[in-house]
Amino acid sequence: MKIVLATSNEHKVQEINDMVAGSGVEFILPPAGFDPVEDGETFEENSKIKAIEAWKISKNWTLADDSGLCIKALGGKPGIYSARYAETPQKRIERVLKEMQGIKNRDAEFVCAMTLINPKGEVEFACKGVCKGKISDKPAGKNGFGYDPIFLVEGGNKTMAEYSEYEKNHISHRFHALRQVIEYLKKN
Ligand code: IMP
Repeated sequence: MKIVLATSNEHKVQEINDMVAGSGVEFILPPAGFDPVEDGETFEENSKIKAIEAWKISKNWTLADDSGLCIKALGGKPGIYSARYAETPQKRIERVLKEMQGIKNRDAEFVCAMTLINPKGEVEFACKGVCKGKISDKPAGKNGFGYDPIFLVEGGNKTMAEYSEYEKNHISHRFHALRQVIEYLKKN
């Protein structure tokens, strides 16, 4: 079964295909012209906006994800603003570390909302995956992207950027959301 993944990021398609290897599901890029306006107020809304947009140009099964970092002491920020919290990934990390200076409660989570649209354009399934952890005092690790170097994964002493890509693909928020999607598809 082929499903259009609502993204223009080829690396994301590759990452998600690696996660579902052997399931019989293959994700493909949307046709040209995929350009959603992500103006929702939640991860769930934005993933639905992206999935519907990809459906409009493909009329196929589509799946969208929307994710970000939520920090408890910052009231859930950067949240849906994760990609825009500062100009560059480095500056985004610096901003978070500055805002967390002197704060004892470092609890945080990566969140990923997914929306699956069927060929009729209806929401077939929606779910959320979470990866819990804490914000470190300083960056560590070279793998991954975004906030990975300052995210200490629960149950370990390493930041997400110190896990290999293979390991991350079995603990990430995207993995936990995707697993629910694949289980749903297998049952239905
Ligand atoms: P997207 O919805 O997957 O495009 O993610 C939006 C933003 O959230 C990214 O630009 C990153 O800043 C952040 N983010 C999402 N997933 C991850 C992750 O796995 N590691 C680090 N940062 C992430």
